[in-house]
Amino acid sequence: MKPRVRFAPSPTGPLHIGGVRTALYNYLFAKQNGGTMILRIEDTDQTRFVEGAEEYIIEAFQWLGVKFDEGVGIGGNYGPYKQSERKPMYKQYADQLIANGWAYYAFDTPEALEQKRKEYEAEKKNFQYDWRTRENMTNSLTLSAEEVAQRLANGDAYVIRFKHTPDTEILVNDIIRGEVRINSNILDDKVLYKSDGMPTYHLANIVDDHLMEITHVIRGEEWLPSAPLHVMLYKAFGWEAPRFAHLPLLLKPDGNGKLSKRDGDRLGFPVFPLQWKDPKSGEISSGYRESGYLPEAVINMLALLGWNPGNDQEVMSMDELIQLFSLEKISKAGAKFDLEKAKWFNHHYLQAYPNEKLAESLKSTLQGKGLDADMDKIIRVVALIKERLYFINDLWSQSYYFFERPTEYNEQVIKKRWKEGTAEHLMHIAELLTSTVPFDKAVAHDKVMDYIRGNELNMGQIMNSFRLTLVGDAKGPDLFEIIDILGVEETVIRLKNGIEAISKLANWQIR
Ligand code: GLU
Repeated sequence: MKPRVRFAPSPTGPLHIGGVRTALYNYLFAKQNGGTMILRIEDTDQTRFVEGAEEYIIEAFQWLGVKFDEGVGIGGNYGPYKQSERKPMYKQYADQLIANGWAYYAFDTPEALEQKRKEYEAEKKNFQYDWRTRENMTNSLTLSAEEVAQRLANGDAYVIRFKHTPDTEILVNDIIRGEVRINSNILDDKVLYKSDGMPTYHLANIVDDHLMEITHVIRGEEWLPSAPLHVMLYKAFGWEAPRFAHLPLLLKPDGNGKLSKRDGDRLGFPVFPLQWKDPKSGEISSGYRESGYLPEAVINMLALLGWNPGNDQEVMSMDELIQLFSLEKISKAGAKFDLEKAKWFNHHYLQAYPNEKLAESLKSTLQGKGLDADMDKIIRVVALIKERLYFINDLWSQSYYFFERPTEYNEQVIKKRWKEGTAEHLMHIAELLTSTVPFDKAVAHDKVMDYIRGNELNMGQIMNSFRLTLVGDAKGPDLFEIIDILGVEETVIRLKNGIEAISKLANWQIR
């Protein structure tokens, strides 16, 4: 039987990368087994609905290359795939549980529940609606059948709660964690349905997984505590339960606690795939895409947070991941986020990225700054600086000096390198370059080296001063490569401009 798996986010905000990893593992598992990957939007809690979150989720997976076979925005034979659109379907299942004695109506008002909580707190205890306390509450287990019928006829607000059978051992068979056994006595009677006509997550999730013929529920560890209830719900309905796999948490880089939505910008890396602007506060949270990551790098990095192929292979394309992935090799322990590793992956994938594509990106940055250059030049620049790129955004910071003349010169470098006589030597070097016709970087290199050595000059001083006039700083790739791209004419202009400006700045120290 081919697996059917689902990713079932609630549209309560931007998607955390933990959620992205959950979706990725579902996807890898489905694709490896010729199965179906479904996107279901779980929006039963209307109070937590956030404008734009659903669109964000869809766009994020498009960017990442995780493709759904069925679901919201795609369609399929098991729709609708958004729970709010399935609203009328759930009532009959809640009724069925009541009829079979697996659930009951509870009429306790919010005030009455609050009152109970306070009473318990006063005795330093926690109130839980469960097999022990339900006997003292206002529900269809304690009211007479007539009174229940009367309240329902009156339209009194109610919820439907699951009725756990005390002293039952519930077995959750988890692919990653093995057999997890829980005694029903510790569980509360969760609300399944509310009189506003909305099911809660628990009921909708189980009904939908059943109706959508989901075979494997692969989701975050935070749902493990709900799994016993889910197992019981399948039992109560008389349905076969899917297999479960609860994924380890993503932890902060230091391993101290779960990586939360708030952590990202605080710790200096994004926790969301795409940038997100909160529709209410306007607050912006950074995203991998906008921070200059490639989707391939994000996928590779996330795949290894909690799983590895069993050897030390680290670089894997989506196709390789699909081949190598296995639920059994997922670790139980939380996975620490590692920023250096994320950067390393991005650097790696940038090196494999076509120069033409990077050049297009740089071209649009240039245009945005009102600068222009022809594509040939941009491609040459990209090829030269590529190994220095960690993020797409580094394109500009590593190459700006090819497109605009320096207007400032690093003072530290001036202090260290610019000496009496430097200006004259650089003028001489300018002549050496101009006289190399046609220009050839190897020939020019040899002439300059001969000049420096022949005059017993300090190599570091001259070359760094030379670089300073071209770049404004002591950084960048091989100087003769830079000259080759700038052209001799531009190089000489920069040399002269630089000599003039720096000589003024350096006056104080030469004297
Ligand atoms: N709607 C739940 C969430 O937001 C889905 C949990 C599950 O996969 O069962 O994570």
